[in-house]
Amino acid sequence: MADHDLLIVGAGISGLSMAHHAAGAGWNTRILEPEYRPGGCLHSHRFTGALDGFWLELGAHSGFNSYGNLLAIMEQVGLLERIQRRAKVGFRMFVDGKIRSIPSQLYFPALPLAPFRLLGLIKTGRNVAEYYGHIVGRRNYAAVFEPAFNAVICQPANDFPADSLFQPRPRRKDVPRGFTLPGGLQTIADTLGARPEIQIDFGQTTRTLRRAGEHFVVGTDDREYTARTVGLATPVAVAAELLDAEFPDLARRLREIDTATIESIGVALPAEALQLPPVAGLIGRDEAFYSVVSRDTVPDPGYRGFTFHFRPGVLDGEEKLARIAQVLDVPRVALGSENVAFKTNQLPMLRVGHGERTRDLDKALAGSRLALTGNYFSGVAIEECVTRSLDEFTRLRQEG
Ligand SMILES: Cc1cc2nc3c(=O)[nH]c(=O)nc-3n(C[C@H](O)[C@H](O)[C@H](O)COP(=O)(O)OP(=O)(O)OC[C@H]3O[C@@H](n4cnc5c(N)ncnc54)[C@H](O)[C@@H]3O)c2cc1C
Repeated sequence: MADHDLLIVGAGISGLSMAHHAAGAGWNTRILEPEYRPGGCLHSHRFTGALDGFWLELGAHSGFNSYGNLLAIMEQVGLLERIQRRAKVGFRMFVDGKIRSIPSQLYFPALPLAPFRLLGLIKTGRNVAEYYGHIVGRRNYAAVFEPAFNAVICQPANDFPADSLFQPRPRRKDVPRGFTLPGGLQTIADTLGARPEIQIDFGQTTRTLRRAGEHFVVGTDDREYTARTVGLATPVAVAAELLDAEFPDLARRLREIDTATIESIGVALPAEALQLPPVAGLIGRDEAFYSVVSRDTVPDPGYRGFTFHFRPGVLDGEEKLARIAQVLDVPRVALGSENVAFKTNQLPMLRVGHGERTRDLDKALAGSRLALTGNYFSGVAIEECVTRSLDEFTRLRQEG
């Protein structure tokens, strides 16, 4: 008999939310995670020493009241009442070395036509550049919308499927439109990971997946686990590698999805050291970074924090810190080891036609007792990951 009802590979929000549902159904569930922290892209860096108590987001920064499946889980674990409304501060653009308002970059004569251009325009089958470029006009698209979409998905957005970018969902009226939690979104991962019914083995990198009779055997560097069902909740490239031996067709389909790397650096500075007015973030145009995400949405009396999400391979480590100092207008020496945090993030690069690939994957998965979840199905937002995990767990339950 297998040791587990469900083994989940990866303790990001996809793996944690699947484990939450499985534990709720009474399944003996374990997650294997290489890091010593749950959350994956939910990564709130919490400073220590002089900055003790201050945190900033190195990955995802906002939840929204349209995240119904995430909010349902948060309600079940008592997190709803801890939700913190994000302060209303706006985004600005960073262009030609200067901070500029978004309206100052728009070409207004093209905008009144936008509602008419929207009529009858179908998102499916079009990429972001075609769809939004047609609506707002090429000039506005290049000046504002393209850099803004790049900032939203932390990768060049032009070829991303338009229907995977913003998905309309009902909004909960009892929840602020944009939210975080004390300690950042990491608190969601910490709370789910601390549920006594969910066992997480940290420091365990999964290397192999094979079938043995009626169950699965999952191998890490130092041990093997057996399970009746398995959920892969890793970045897509890792899932492809793990599937190679037993599910080569699935692995081949996953290899068609490229991965974007984002080199993220968060810095915390005393509020009095900065002239920059409060901002939600900066959108870079023709810049080494896609965006700068600010902690001003959760103001702190003493410190301010900024995470720069850099394009990969453009600047080396020292050049990035020099650029951060320039943008924030602080001396380079103000950025030391105690107030700077680094992270490499990865996101899938979805392309038009991805819906068809997802349907093929789902057909191949039917009856397999293997679940695939993550941010490479309908979209990269947290809600899409959580929804995929719920759907996949529902299928596993039916398959026994
Ligand atoms: C910079 C950035 C900003 C974002 N902002 C937002 C936002 O504001 N709102 C929003 O909704 N979404 C946002 N997103 C998207 C969202 O955060 C992610 O798509 C989502 O969190 C991905 O969750 P996941 O669990 O699928 O994958 P991940 O978070 O990548 O988790 C995968 C897990 O698998 C583990 N793993 C890897 N290899 C192995 C292995 N061999 N064995 C076992 N485990 C392994 C990893 O360590 C990791 O813990 C943002 C993403 C980024 C990068």
